[in-house]
Amino acid sequence: MTYKVKCWECGNEITDNYLDACPRCNGSLTIEMDLSHLEGTKPEDLRSRPLGVWRYSHFLPINSDPVTLQEGGTPLYDCDKLADEYNVRELQVKFEGANPTGSFKDRGMTVGVSRAVELGCKVVGCASTGNTSASLAAYAAKAGLKCVVLLPSGKVALGKLAQAMFFGAKVVTVDGNFDDALRVVRELSHSGDLYMLNSVNPFRPEGQKTLAFEILDQMDFKLPDRIVYPVGNAANIWAAYKALKEWQSLGWIDELPMLTGVQAGGSAPLVNSFAHGQEDFKAVENPETVATAIRIGNPASGRKALKAVYDTGGVMTAVSDREIIEAQFLFGRKEGVGCEPASAASLAGVKKLLDEGKISRKERIVCVCTGHVLKDPDTVIANCGQVLKTPATADAVRKAIGG
Ligand SMILES: *Cc1c(COP(=O)(O)O)cnc(C)c1O
Ligand SMILES: [Zn+2]
Repeated sequence: MTYKVKCWECGNEITDNYLDACPRCNGSLTIEMDLSHLEGTKPEDLRSRPLGVWRYSHFLPINSDPVTLQEGGTPLYDCDKLADEYNVRELQVKFEGANPTGSFKDRGMTVGVSRAVELGCKVVGCASTGNTSASLAAYAAKAGLKCVVLLPSGKVALGKLAQAMFFGAKVVTVDGNFDDALRVVRELSHSGDLYMLNSVNPFRPEGQKTLAFEILDQMDFKLPDRIVYPVGNAANIWAAYKALKEWQSLGWIDELPMLTGVQAGGSAPLVNSFAHGQEDFKAVENPETVATAIRIGNPASGRKALKAVYDTGGVMTAVSDREIIEAQFLFGRKEGVGCEPASAASLAGVKKLLDEGKISRKERIVCVCTGHVLKDPDTVIANCGQVLKTPATADAVRKAIGG
């Protein structure tokens, strides 16, 4: 595929393969795909390939054999019981926990690591709240690359840490939060120590576009009214916007669903600026939330995310930790699907926006649930009752469970 890497802020074309920001204005980078070869085609034409990231290779900036673990192709669940509970016309959940390492990060990583291999890089690295590191470690293993991951000390969910270690990454916890870890990994990338695969690398969001492509594909190209994302570093909701604009430019879709972002109350820099109609935002100093995957005070793609929301007529809202955990458990116990806390922020956000009358109960809504419940077993167990203990007799068990 042909494409250009450009500065998203000033349009400067970037030719150095190792930059992570514009040398002229320090703006964030983006990829402009040349889609002219697709004119006159329709989305159904792609359906001879299996559902998944590489069904959409025409929209991806990779021109070699990809490093793939068969990511994407995740279920879109009709959640009628949850829709009843929230009193909304239609609620579907795109369950990204069904990806190879249990989060949507695999969509960006198959493209990012493929790019690293194309460039001949030997060492890849990232800063991560957990899932990016789990995903990168797996794809680096598959590609035979060395992998270094920087995690904020003390706040990484157990399942994610286990995955990064299991796949053989060098795991380093740094004193500080995610924003500090990102600053350090950018420095290591500038000095040539590693190829950085955080979502400021513009190849990552390209893969994440496929999440939105799949939703439309699974709905037979009949658009939902709204797609709701949990927002942390803010690349994923931006990727959805980019995906929708690309399909719109080809005439594959007419309108755009309202992109809606949900942050955790203790780390919600974008919600504050959305409330004031601002394009820019002020970083939150000490972000705090049980939803560690979105515990980010200075979202690297924050300005892009705000544009995505404004341009599609969406909204941004913040939810409390209690609302997040309630939504996580309700979803699990009504629908039988387990997602991690950050993922449930999208559901909690929908409930809140409905209750506040900020969105209509007549809407058809898709919530993106970004990661698997097993990522963070500690939070689950802390929010459940005690396990019952009895002697090994049927009678004792009967008594313990209350008949
Ligand atoms: C990374 C992540 C997010 C946030 O995505 P951004 O692109 O950083 O906004 C949300 N949920 C989970 C489970 C994640 O791993
Ligand atoms: Zn620039």
